[in-house]
Amino acid sequence: MAFNDRGNSFRGRDSNRGGFGGPKEMHNATCSDCGAETQVPFRPDPDRPVYCRECLPNHRKPRENRY
Ligand SMILES: [Zn+2]
Repeated sequence: MAFNDRGNSFRGRDSNRGGFGGPKEMHNATCSDCGAETQVPFRPDPDRPVYCRECLPNHRKPRENRY
């Protein structure tokens, strides 16, 4: 009987493949509102405005009519 069952390739496969939670590629962009430089985790679409973290909440879809 050979108990050779350890180390059964239980190592994580390369967990660095940009999965969820991994470091995302950031793209430089300019905020369309205040003009500040910011970085977005997606490729900035020239047709769409990009907002920095400060301005983003102001341009997000209002989740609720609070007023
Ligand atoms: Zn801004």
